[in-house]
Amino acid sequence: MQNAPTHTPAQDLLARRINVLGPHTPLFYDEPLHLVRGEGVWLYDHSGKRYLDVYNNVPHVGHCNPRVVEAMHRQASTLNVHTRYLHNNIIDYTERLSATFADSLSMAMLTCTGSEANELALRMARHHTGGQGIIVTDFAYHGNTEAVAEIGTGFMPESRHTKRVKAFAIPDSYRGIEGVAEEQLADAYVAQIARAIDEFAAEGIPFAGMLVCPDFANEGLLNIPAGFMEKATALVHKAGGLLIADEVQAGFGRTGKHWWAHQWYDITPDIVTLGKPMGNGHPLAGVVARGDLINAFTEHSMYFNTFGGTPVSCAVGMAVLDALEQDNLLENAVSTGDYVAAGLRQLQTKYPLIGEVRDRGLFFAVELVTDPVTKTPAKKQARRIINLMKEQSVLISTIGVHDAILKLRPPMPFQPEHADVLLHTLDKVLQQVSEELVHG
Ligand code: PMP
Repeated sequence: MQNAPTHTPAQDLLARRINVLGPHTPLFYDEPLHLVRGEGVWLYDHSGKRYLDVYNNVPHVGHCNPRVVEAMHRQASTLNVHTRYLHNNIIDYTERLSATFADSLSMAMLTCTGSEANELALRMARHHTGGQGIIVTDFAYHGNTEAVAEIGTGFMPESRHTKRVKAFAIPDSYRGIEGVAEEQLADAYVAQIARAIDEFAAEGIPFAGMLVCPDFANEGLLNIPAGFMEKATALVHKAGGLLIADEVQAGFGRTGKHWWAHQWYDITPDIVTLGKPMGNGHPLAGVVARGDLINAFTEHSMYFNTFGGTPVSCAVGMAVLDALEQDNLLENAVSTGDYVAAGLRQLQTKYPLIGEVRDRGLFFAVELVTDPVTKTPAKKQARRIINLMKEQSVLISTIGVHDAILKLRPPMPFQPEHADVLLHTLDKVLQQVSEELVHG
């Protein structure tokens, strides 16, 4: 007679994973989720349970989007080579991509990850300016290569920061700066950038530029004070630096009104980096920049990326653009985004646990606080909420310095009927967690 198994298949898989990947490779949820299939905004686990995906932005035009799968299959069955041969796909794709930017951002270079794109952007900025110093926010994540990790102030031990990197406080109109009036906030944050530029000069480190996500997404999708980006950009340019906009998370119409998050402001970056949603899960990323910057950099340093911009990658990228345009997904991000935001604000009136709701297209941040007056981050409750939501078949996550901000960022085909499922489930979970908070 066989012994009854002591572990579930998911526990066995977890044990094997720890053996081969180690215990520190990140996993979501107290009880990790074992997914086997995806379709549109839905994900299915090994038992067939269906989850509404309100988290993943990489499957931008929907999990396993048939248009993307078909384009990938068709090109993979025809030809896949690197970019040292002439091929239509990379030309057609980068022409179409750069047309979504301001005229000055006329050229592109393709990579496989957002980290590589940011690395390339740093190299270009340092080459162009002859400088080294880079300014970021004090809770920044821009990727995982050595040079990009060096500018990552968010998840890095202090000791790894170098003299080439300086940070300014996240511009946050919810918490602000103590003693600074709301209308002075933009200037107060800009003054921190000015100070960093001066410090670089005093330390003999020439300035190269500022690299920020224009949505401040990893920082918590903040409502930044009006005028901040315009003033900060002018200051950076005046000091001889470049503005690098990291649109790896914020781009490709996520914010609805515009293709790119920086287009919400009256600014034009010098370099923009792209990734995540670009290939709907296929590793496609890149840089769109001023032509003079790309030409000067590539003349000086040969840049070749074996897998960047292959015919298959570009066919996939094209299919993502097709889906965005033909299915009117930017318009959907505005209309469904407004619908979700209104529902979240309705929940805010019911639950003091919600300190602020922020939204931009189909990207939402729900700032949780244990007390709306002190604005104490509700970290424990945020974790409890995402786990309870998962149990009730809705996937969300957290962001921000204290991990107390709910991050909602569904695939772009998200519809009001999906929003109703999200809002109904969140209402139930908030009710439960709010009661737990009151009753300790
Ligand atoms: N920039 C931002 C803003 C990101 O959120 C990320 C990934 N989380 C990256 C860059 C790095 O992209 P990748 O993981 O593709 O290297």
